[in-house]
Formats: sequence, C-alpha cells, structure tokens
Amino acid sequence: MKLLHIAAAAALTAALLPTAGVQSRAADDMPLLRADVNGDYLINSQDMVLLSKFLLGAGELSSEQAQRADFDSDGVVDTFDLISMRKSCVRNAVNDPQGTFSAVGGSGKRWFWFDGSSEGLLLRSDTVTPFSFSKWGDSIDITLSAGAPASAAISWLDDERFYLKWGNSSVELLTRCDTERFDKGLYLSGEYVSDKGKSYKLGQFSGTCGGEDIAILPLGTKAQFIYSDGTVKTGGFSRSDKYHFTLDWDDGTSEKFTRREITVKDGITYVNGVLIANKTYSLPSTYAPNGLTAEFNTAFAKMQAAAKQDRMTLGICSGYRSYSYQATLYNNYVARDGKAAADTYSARPGHSEHQTGLAADINYAGDSFNSTPEAKWLAENCHKYGFIIRYPKGKESITGYKYEGWHVRYLGEELAGLVHDSGLTLEEYFAIDSKYSY
Ligand SMILES: [Zn+2]
Repeated sequence: MKLLHIAAAAALTAALLPTAGVQSRAADDMPLLRADVNGDYLINSQDMVLLSKFLLGAGELSSEQAQRADFDSDGVVDTFDLISMRKSCVRNAVNDPQGTFSAVGGSGKRWFWFDGSSEGLLLRSDTVTPFSFSKWGDSIDITLSAGAPASAAISWLDDERFYLKWGNSSVELLTRCDTERFDKGLYLSGEYVSDKGKSYKLGQFSGTCGGEDIAILPLGTKAQFIYSDGTVKTGGFSRSDKYHFTLDWDDGTSEKFTRREITVKDGITYVNGVLIANKTYSLPSTYAPNGLTAEFNTAFAKMQAAAKQDRMTLGICSGYRSYSYQATLYNNYVARDGKAAADTYSARPGHSEHQTGLAADINYAGDSFNSTPEAKWLAENCHKYGFIIRYPKGKESITGYKYEGWHVRYLGEELAGLVHDSGLTLEEYFAIDSKYSY
C-alpha cells in the first residue's frame, strides 16, 4: 500500500510513544481508574500497600486517593475494596485487547486494531502501520515493523475501555469502537459504484477509488477516506441494506454506494452472485438448464397454493425457453413488426430471461393480464415467495422492456424482499444497465 510509511526503527518506536506528561492534563477528562489509589494509572502492589496500611490504621489517604480506592463507590473504603483491587489485577492480566480501539492521549487521535493474538495495526489520520504485540500479565509490548518494542501497562476500566501507561509515563485511554461493523469486515468491504459515478474497491482499512489508493479509517459511525494526494474526506455512515450504504460527507454532500461485484463464469454474468440476463448481459447459446430450475418450481408451487387461498388462479404460460427457440421467436417478431418494435417486447437470443430457467410468464403474456386481480395479487405478494415483477410500470427506459405484469423472476425470498422494499428495478438495485451494445 502506497500510504504505508515505513520509517527508521528508532523513529517508529518514538512515534508509538505518545508525548509524555499528559497525565496531569488528562486527569480531568479521563475517567477515574478505581483501585489505582496513588493515581499513577497502574494497579499494582503500591496501591495495595497504601490501601492495606489505611485499613490497618497505619496510614492516611487523601480525599482523591480515597475516591480512587473506593472501588464499589459506597462511600466507605473497606476490605471489600481490597478484594476488588485484587480482582482488577486479575482482569488486567487475563483480558487481552481484541478489536478496534480509539486512543485519546498525548499525541493526537489514533486507533489501534488488535487481531486477538499477536498482530495489529496502528492507524493515524494519514498512515496505517502494522505492528506485532505480546502481552503477559498486565504488560503489553508493541513492536512497529522492525522497531524496538515499546512497553505499556494495561488497566481495564470495564470491558470496553482500558488505559495504556507507556514507559515514558504518558497515558492513553483506549475505547472500543464499533466492533460489530469493523472487525467482522461488514463495514465497507467490497466493490461498489457510487451515484457520483465513481468505482470503489474497499477493504477494512484501505481501498482504491478509480484505481487511486485510499486509506480508510473507521471512526465510530463515521468513515474517513485519505487519498494519496493528502485529501481527507470524512463521512457519516448509514447502511440501508446489505448492498447499499451512504456516506454523508462533511462538506454537506452525500454519496450513495451500491455493491456491484460483476463476475463472468463460462460466459454467464453474475452481479453480486446473482445470474443476470438483460439487454446488456447475455447468456451463451450453450446455456441450457433442463427447464425451470428446482428452486423456481418449489417457490412457484408455494406461491400458487397461497394465491389459491385468496381465490386466485396462477399458472405458467411460458417458462424456460431455449436459445434457439428465442431466436425463432424474435426473428418472427422482427419479420412482422420490424426490429425497433420487436426490441421493446421481445428479447434477442441470449438476452431473454426465460433462458435462465429462473423466469416465467404467469397466466397470459399480454397487456390484458395487467388489469386482472391476479396481476394485482402478484405485484403485492410475489416477493414473499422469492419473485419480483421484473419489468414494472414506468421503468421502460431502465429495464429496456415495457410493463409486463406477468413476467416474474425468481431471486430467493431474501433478495426479492429487499428489491421489493427498495421500490427499484433489479437494474437500479444493482446499478447495472440494460442496453444493447449492437
Ligand atoms: Zn416473460
């Protein structure tokens, strides 16, 4: 990655250590570390000695020290607090950091990502640097690339936050940020196109935009894109479903991202794993499933039974069509109505969805079907069984076909539901075209 800055080893170690002397300033805005009686951001034998002496009547505690010693906040410093202190020590020894944490301390904002065993990443607004780490007891050694290890003591406040006290006495507070989205790779990863006409390949912490490298910083509910030329853009992140998210950029504009991973296997095009046949994407003449697929038939039988409950009769009037059959059909239409007219209602061979074995015409393939109760029922209910009305009304310029209330496409219940709820055509939903190129 171009943005990775590998500096000299000594400089790296120095870079890892925050500026010293933050402690006193930070004390105001950093939460109280209970059990740390002497206030040095370490929970160790010194604190135990102070507390034990006090409990034995052999020493005094200042009001600040008493506040830190009062682990259970019951206003009394007693032996229960000593027990809690021991528990704290155990927690610091056994709790290993895992996930993404934002660090607040002496050297500006930065983030640590720990993989849970021995590897991690240090993220700054302009750099991403890998490190290795080892933890024993409440100590952690972090080594940036070929640098010398820097040691810090870990003190957990709770399951989400811990203090790092570095060798130079500087202190950082690390707070877990949005592990669900960042650590499980669900945040941004994948190929996307945006409504700004840009194409992105995004990973967890890096990616490309139109071929240009970008570093990506996850910032809680925001994402920061750092471009190779130093441009930084920060955007509020919101996801509408598994294929779409929006970044509301700090400059007031927003950019809608649509997942679009196009793969071609044996001449067949898949978008996000979904087989596509339209005017842009065709099937090879050799693609010939044995009629409608088993999934289609199972789902259709279920839908047919449900329709019957509502006193509707659904039947298939045209299901699978082979490449050669479609060629005959299309050529006959061209001979009768001319090519331009035929293209509005009939697919060219290889471009028909009927060749997929995943589409069919219901009851009657003609305009008079559109005003039947069955057409209304289909439009309202077919998504529940995994189907969509593939060529909806008013979307002729997008799908390339006039309104066909009878033509359903099987997508499976989850995707059919998502497409239905979006109110979009399949082309719009996956940000693809349907236009002949010849
Ligand atoms: Zn059809």
